[in-house]
Amino acid sequence: MSSGLLEDASFNQSPAFGDVDLFSADRPLADAAARAGLDLADLSACGKDYGAAATLDLGRVANENPPKLHLVDGKGNRLDLVEFHPAYHAMMARSIGHGIHASAHDGSDRPGPMSTRAVRLYLATQAESGHMCPITMTHACIGALRSESALLAKWLPRIQTRTYDPRPLPWWEKNGVTLGMGMTERQGGTDVRANITRAVAHGDHVEITGHKWFMSAPMCDAFLVLAQAEGGLTCYLMPRYRPDGSKNQIRFQRLKDKLGNKSNASSEVEFHGAYAERVGAEGAGVRTIIEMVNLTRLDCAIASAGQSRIALSQALSHIRNRSVFQKRLADQPSMRATVADLALELEAQVALVFRLCRASERAHDDAAEAAYVRLLTPAVKFLVCKSTPQLVYESLECLGGNGYTEDLPLARYFRESPLNAIWEGSGNVMALDVLRAAGRHPDQAMATVSALARTAAAAFDVRPLAGTLAMVLQSGDAERRARFLCEGLAKIAALAALAEAKSEFATLYGDTRLGGERFAQFGTADLGDAETKLMDRALAT
Ligand SMILES: Cc1cc2nc3c(=O)[nH]c(=O)nc-3n(C[C@H](O)[C@H](O)[C@H](O)COP(=O)(O)OP(=O)(O)OC[C@H]3O[C@@H](n4cnc5c(N)ncnc54)[C@H](O)[C@@H]3O)c2cc1C
Repeated sequence: MSSGLLEDASFNQSPAFGDVDLFSADRPLADAAARAGLDLADLSACGKDYGAAATLDLGRVANENPPKLHLVDGKGNRLDLVEFHPAYHAMMARSIGHGIHASAHDGSDRPGPMSTRAVRLYLATQAESGHMCPITMTHACIGALRSESALLAKWLPRIQTRTYDPRPLPWWEKNGVTLGMGMTERQGGTDVRANITRAVAHGDHVEITGHKWFMSAPMCDAFLVLAQAEGGLTCYLMPRYRPDGSKNQIRFQRLKDKLGNKSNASSEVEFHGAYAERVGAEGAGVRTIIEMVNLTRLDCAIASAGQSRIALSQALSHIRNRSVFQKRLADQPSMRATVADLALELEAQVALVFRLCRASERAHDDAAEAAYVRLLTPAVKFLVCKSTPQLVYESLECLGGNGYTEDLPLARYFRESPLNAIWEGSGNVMALDVLRAAGRHPDQAMATVSALARTAAAAFDVRPLAGTLAMVLQSGDAERRARFLCEGLAKIAALAALAEAKSEFATLYGDTRLGGERFAQFGTADLGDAETKLMDRALAT
């Protein structure tokens, strides 16, 4: 029996978003995966898993129940334990089960190990972003551990399992482990050379004393830590337990109270003579962690594109079901112009991040691809991560007042959206990194820019911009114009990625992003007939 008018009427609201195959519904993604020759059926299963209503709800619950730090027990004994909600553990188990923490390194996905993993990361982050922090760090730490092969051989079998084992036990007793990293100190994050944490040699290991101002995912089984040794800044692996099975001298101080990223714990921590083993040569700390940082920066771009995608998907789902003035929002001309413009941006971002993944896969035996990775990784992180808050915000606004409430996930997405641009090198640092890469290998950098301009030219004439970039880069004013150089380079690369993929939107991207009459807000560009196709491809039904 009906209980009344209010429950029966649909009130012109869109249905809950969920039970969507996030892979197949995302045509730009599915096209990128097909171009790379990836296993589409497998990725579609992954898309269904992360797009299931129940999985999306785990994301909500994990963020509504943030982790708690337990410093001591009721009798004053030190615990240093962070308690996570079961929903967070369920997300971790799922993403480790999909191998996102390790598959790029273990040869389980051929062809395209980096690209396959990137698709899974992009899908997973749509369900829940916070747990991607330890997943990404574990993946990236493998890159740094390569410089210490004995240590890697010891840890790798536990890292590469597909089992999530959150028990607080010595790593050798566990069925699977995760890795974190502690670089940032109070007096310097970007400037890690200002680190004051010290390592003192004790036979085959060191003891580290000092602090880290940010150390996320503190329940990881070991952390890559930078500390000053006799020979300079050095990288170490610091396990949670010492080799005798006792707890290591890692003392958490506090968990950060953050804008978003609520499901993930980010700690302030002190080390009181904590046991650690050297990774890479003494004094080569920065060189050692660069291996890791390049991987995390790429992950930031992939995940940010995923964050924008889930927000846009929710916006599309809503406007297709909500009517205003007797017409669906999806048929209102200015709404179409807005949403199609967001979709065009994501067409380019997806093409660009997967082009960078492909370059990363080939870099070890292709010098041109290695040069592409060096120059483009910071530029792509800059462009993609910095645009996420705006893309998420515009998607949120498509849902009107509902979008601004905590009852829907858009508010959470919005709070999460600035983070990837900050960690692993904030905006200016990325721009300066592009200059550094160009300065170290000027000929290769110029060759990369020329190749990009040639490829892009099939769709849009970027030669004037490429010429200006080259001129500014070689001028004495390059540092002041670093953001211009970085964004200009990333946009040319995005256009080249679209052109290479033979995207029908390549010219449109050039016209609207690099041509005349450009305004700052999404929805101001004239996309003409392309609107329908862009919208259909963004969330295929
Ligand atoms: C939620 C969260 C989790 C984190 N987790 C970890 C973690 O697990 N491990 C870890 O090691 N760190 C972690 N961090 C720290 C993060 O990596 C740093 O905050 C970040 O790298 C910036 O460093 P900083 O905070 O010291 O800022 P600063 O280095 O002081 O930079 C401040 C600003 O100045 C800009 N800037 C810096 N240098 C220049 C320059 N030469 N010219 C122009 N502008 C410049 C930067 O772009 C930035 O905008 C985390 C941060 C957050 C927010």
